[in-house]
Amino acid sequence: MLFEPEINELTMEELPSFVSHLECSYTGKTYPADQLHGLSEAGKPLLVRYDLDALGKAVSKQDLLMRLPEIWRYREFLPFRKSKSIIRLGEVMTPLLPANKLQKEIGCGEILIKDEGRLPTGSFKARGLAVAVAMAKELGVKRIAMPTNGNAGAALAAYCSKADIESFVFCPQDTPQVNVQEIAYQGAKTFLANGYINDCGKVVGDGKDIMGWFDFSTLKEPYRIEGKKTMGLELAEQLNWEVPDVILYPTGGGTGLIGMWKAFDELEAIGWIGPKRPRMVAVQSEGCAPIVRAFDRGDRHAEPWQDANTIAPGIRVPAAVGDFLILDAVRESDGFAAAVSDEKILQAQSECAKKEGILLCPEGAAALATLKQEVTTGRIKPTEKVVLFNCATGLKYEMSSLHRLINLSEKIDYNAISRF
Ligand SMILES: *Cc1c(COP(=O)(O)O)cnc(C)c1O
Repeated sequence: MLFEPEINELTMEELPSFVSHLECSYTGKTYPADQLHGLSEAGKPLLVRYDLDALGKAVSKQDLLMRLPEIWRYREFLPFRKSKSIIRLGEVMTPLLPANKLQKEIGCGEILIKDEGRLPTGSFKARGLAVAVAMAKELGVKRIAMPTNGNAGAALAAYCSKADIESFVFCPQDTPQVNVQEIAYQGAKTFLANGYINDCGKVVGDGKDIMGWFDFSTLKEPYRIEGKKTMGLELAEQLNWEVPDVILYPTGGGTGLIGMWKAFDELEAIGWIGPKRPRMVAVQSEGCAPIVRAFDRGDRHAEPWQDANTIAPGIRVPAAVGDFLILDAVRESDGFAAAVSDEKILQAQSECAKKEGILLCPEGAAALATLKQEVTTGRIKPTEKVVLFNCATGLKYEMSSLHRLINLSEKIDYNAISRF
């Protein structure tokens, strides 16, 4: 399959875009489309709104079957207007893998693992950044900066390089080395800072005027959510326009959870799915669980987590700008927020690799560990069909050594090998 622009995209300068306006997710105040925006005046994320009547008339489920298996197949649900804004690095539809052996062992309903590690730069950050960088390009942005724990920076770097946009990426000192290196390799001006992610965010914010860059911090620009929304559209399509009973989502900034929730609303508005929603479960690590704490306390906003520490960097986010959007979606869906220990994360990662042949990232393993834990507590029922998100390829993370050595200058002891 060739991931090349379709003929009609080559000849058609303008794509049908159904964006009507942007809206503050907190106050509902509206903002015009087709302009650069950061946060709303209230300091909250902006959401993109569409003319859903027109959108629903412009595309059918049948139309999708004729399109490439990539995120751009949902272009009517996306905000850009020009076909030449699309930047392609192979944004494939990711597989939903049944984990039968784990299902049997845990004693739960069907488990499907959505393996997002197949996306460009090895994580689902590619969905958000592909769309956000496409919009930045369309709106004439020349320079972008971002604080990152790793995967977002890698995706930003790759899409900016492809789109001829200059990128500056700031990583906290404990960012996995492979991430720092891949970001720099893919063309971003990359800095490792002796501080936390929020300190890096401050460097980006404070440098705006001097550097003239656009701040691409999580949820501080409106289009990353739209890219992440494709997870919800794709999941519904793959399940033949049925949603699962439960979605377990490793939650850092929450872009994906918020995006999927928005996708389901838009799909219902155009009549492609019914009112049923999956129960959304925000998965965090015990070493950084601000959303879980707020959920348990019944709060709508989460207090920043002190001394955040976990082996899962993608969910090491002490404070999320979109905390209330995550908590609202979790509560409206009759879901919950849960945390697991690093030990359980590692155990789940090793189990899934050995039994299912899928090397999860630690964040994806946290979702599996949460499933095991919550089937025991009864918050997930054995009749429920569950989708787990594996956010990134496990190959980017350090692994412990499980192999043994053999000495080729000695006689090989096949008995010992067979007893391994
Ligand atoms: C970014 C990231 C997450 C968290 O995703 P959000 O949508 O920002 O909550 C989880 N896992 C990995 C591997 C990530 O890179």
